[in-house]
Amino acid sequence: MVYGEHARLREALGGYLLGALSSEQDELMARHLAVCPDCEQELIAMVDTAAAFTLLGDPPPRRPSPRN
Ligand SMILES: [Zn+2]
Repeated sequence: MVYGEHARLREALGGYLLGALSSEQDELMARHLAVCPDCEQELIAMVDTAAAFTLLGDPPPRRPSPRN
């Protein structure tokens, strides 16, 4: 494994999670994840964090009361 690729892809994990990478990068990432448990774990941690944010985030919109 090339360390440079690992470091570069690790930084792009967030973008991969959000689907923000180009299809070329996306493919490269998928191939790298298959052989790099480090990045795979990092991605899983990110997914967990994102899931937690989705569950905890988005407070209900505050609506002004129509009553006077
Ligand atoms: Zn890696």
